[in-house]
Amino acid sequence: MKRTAIYPGTFDPITLGHVDVVMRGLKLFDRIVIGVADNPNKGPMFDVAERYAMVSETFSAESSVHVARFSGLLVDLAHDHQAHAILRGLRAASDFEYEFQMATMNRRLDAAIETVFVMAREDYTFVSSRFIREISTMGGDVSALVPEPVLSRLNRP
Ligand code: ADP
Repeated sequence: MKRTAIYPGTFDPITLGHVDVVMRGLKLFDRIVIGVADNPNKGPMFDVAERYAMVSETFSAESSVHVARFSGLLVDLAHDHQAHAILRGLRAASDFEYEFQMATMNRRLDAAIETVFVMAREDYTFVSSRFIREISTMGGDVSALVPEPVLSRLNRP
């Protein structure tokens, strides 16, 4: 049986930090389903269709990576894809509190699904979607921090 993990997030937009989490996740799992959350209450810069498109284009050559949009419970998305794990990334201690709460809540909802964390690569520990949005809005260069499908959209007039 294939080992499948769900990697959920807002991906507003996807960064090379996210890509690194996926690539390291592929060493542990046969298949990764990236769950792009609708999250309209977060007031995203990119709507969900565009966030989904950027993630799909980034991994178009990677047959073990699938992309799904979702708005309901994460455990339901996991069931839909026969996934037994949730993959998340940790950058700093500040990520821990929220991640701990989410992992604990998901375990209460379905104890059979394990949350697995991978640590951010050193050169991406400071990379966040918010940072990318802020820097690029102010005209800064983020080309070393995001995949091409994001860069082309950020540079759009
Ligand atoms: P969410 O709104 O669910 O936090 P994000 O898209 O911001 O969605 O992040 C999704 C996951 O990726 C989170 O677990 C976050 O900690 C992780 N992540 C984000 N950026 C990085 C990075 N640079 N390195 C490692 N993990 C990261």
